[in-house]
Amino acid sequence: MPACFSLFARIVALAVFAFGALFSQAKQAGAETTPISAIVIEGLGKGTASLDGPWQFHPGDDPAWATPAFDSSRWEQLRADRPWGKQGHAHYTGFAWYRCSISLTPAPGIAPQFSLLVPHVKDAYEIYWNGSLIGRNGKLDSHPVWYYSQSAQVFELGDMSRGVLAVRVWKAPLLSDDFGDAGGFESAPLIGSPAAIATARAALDYQWLRSQQFVFGDSLLCALVACLSLLLWLRNPTRWLLFWMTGFAIVSPANLLLLNAHLHWSYVVAMGAAQVLSSIRDVSLWFLLVWLLSLHENSAITRLTRILACICLANGILDGVLIALSWRSQWSGMVQAADAISAFLYTLLEAFPLILAGYALFHRKTLDSTRWLVAITAFLDEMLLVFRNAVKQGRQFTHWPIASSIDSPLFTIGGSAISLRTLVGASLLVAIVYAVYNSVRDDQRRQDKLRQEKVELMRESERIRHYAEHDGLTGLWNHRIIVQRLRQELERSRREKVPLSVILIDVDHFKKVNDTFGHPVGDLVLKELSAIFMSSLRTHDWGGRYGGEEFLLILPGCSIEGALSRAEELRLAVQSARIMDGETMLEVTASFGVASNFTSNHEYEAVIRVVDTALYRAKSSGRNCVVSAEPNMPFC
Ligand code: GH3
Ligand code: MG
Ligand code: MG
Repeated sequence: MPACFSLFARIVALAVFAFGALFSQAKQAGAETTPISAIVIEGLGKGTASLDGPWQFHPGDDPAWATPAFDSSRWEQLRADRPWGKQGHAHYTGFAWYRCSISLTPAPGIAPQFSLLVPHVKDAYEIYWNGSLIGRNGKLDSHPVWYYSQSAQVFELGDMSRGVLAVRVWKAPLLSDDFGDAGGFESAPLIGSPAAIATARAALDYQWLRSQQFVFGDSLLCALVACLSLLLWLRNPTRWLLFWMTGFAIVSPANLLLLNAHLHWSYVVAMGAAQVLSSIRDVSLWFLLVWLLSLHENSAITRLTRILACICLANGILDGVLIALSWRSQWSGMVQAADAISAFLYTLLEAFPLILAGYALFHRKTLDSTRWLVAITAFLDEMLLVFRNAVKQGRQFTHWPIASSIDSPLFTIGGSAISLRTLVGASLLVAIVYAVYNSVRDDQRRQDKLRQEKVELMRESERIRHYAEHDGLTGLWNHRIIVQRLRQELERSRREKVPLSVILIDVDHFKKVNDTFGHPVGDLVLKELSAIFMSSLRTHDWGGRYGGEEFLLILPGCSIEGALSRAEELRLAVQSARIMDGETMLEVTASFGVASNFTSNHEYEAVIRVVDTALYRAKSSGRNCVVSAEPNMPFC
């Protein structure tokens, strides 16, 4: 991977952390954080607005809506300074009723326009508002509304002056926090001018978003990791690590989107799907850890991971189905029992990355520094989650507040809160990104090295082959190879019925050259003559050193006439060559035997014999001449 990309990836990894930890909550940071505790009626006139209840519970039942039997004596006037967060219908599952009484006297000269702000009801599954509000015109339409409340809702009341709203809140068994710490209205419903209500609503929305911030931050981090993974993956599509990583990272934002689906019917679908996606995310993380921590070489762990992955996915699907079933409240008992089993399984499965990271740390020989980082952060992250979940599930016995403090803000920067969980989760993600990036880079380096070694090996084998086939002094084919070629060409000329000629060359009085000038000069002469012979060869000709100062040329497709004339050309070239050894100039000649038109009986030995005879005749005819093996074609 090029160095600039390496730098880029590091910058992106840092940006992932910085963005995720700090900027992910920037969306909420702009909003005002005015505490909402007063009923906003200033400047509009005088009057009261109060919320009373809860006054009736019908678990799993839908009371006669049209004629609710109010029991006014149990209604409770709520004032502005009341700690509303703790109020409401904690410890109850089913329907809770509230009554909102409104009585306002508009200020003289001001056209009354009122809005009602209904804050988020923490564990409500659905909420109905209904009632009759009496306006100046005597009567206002009733407000039958239902919605799943995730953030504050505003109702335009127009110019009504007094009336009663009945509020019905349904707590679905699986979606409620039935341990009593939370639940009910997060603050008092407000009545006021549309402008005052808009400000109050922004503040409430901000508070709600802050409560969601760790999910949001996590998901944004995962989205950024997904982008980086995709980028790396596009560069190296064969990297399976990135595949898992992308899966791992993409699922979280999808989860968040589904969890934030506001519509009532889609909520059930969304919650169900989110459970399945969560399981996929967990499974992706396991596989990523297995591969990243080099645990895939351990077949027992790989098998265990696969089995647990199936269980985890099945559990996720079961959880999704349970949520759908919780829609029917009469099945709640059965669903709750199944949900308990599912939650138990989740807790067990959540410990698995912990085991993987622990195992890798225990067998730390295979860990390089980046894998150490992943193993330690994965260990911390999972320890934190397992601990939090265990305490959360056992909260009814322990009453420890510590589980929620893991999710609650540790500190804030520019209005962005950072929880312990976000921090540790972000560290894990960054460590994974870094390890995957390093792994890809190492892999790339290994492959480059292998490729280089392969090229070296090929070069080496080529060199060895060259030495095995060529004569070390002249660079021509050696005796073994030139004889082999002669055999092949003989066969080919017979098969294809094309002429074949051979020329055998012997340097004249070469012994004298050696004796007079020394062997090194003799070597030089052999090299120079080889160069002359080589340069005369066509692409399909063969030239080899047959023996000491004897050379064999094979000329496929060449007739006897052609071969004789080429031999004569070579003879003249040798004769006119001026070989210089320092100051000394040498002149040599050579004799040429030429043979062609071999019969089918001619084996290569016979061919050599024939051409050798011609060469012998050339020698005995006074040397420096060309002699044909065919008796009627002397060329001397
Ligand atoms: P003729 O004209 O009859 O061929 O005489 P000649 O001297 O060339 O014949 P002879 O076969 O007697 O001598 C060949 C010499 O070639 C003998 C040997 O020392 C020399 N020779 C063979 N191989 C090499 C080599 O690789 N380098 C050198 N310098 N000399 C070699
Ligand atoms: Mg000789
Ligand atoms: Mg000789």
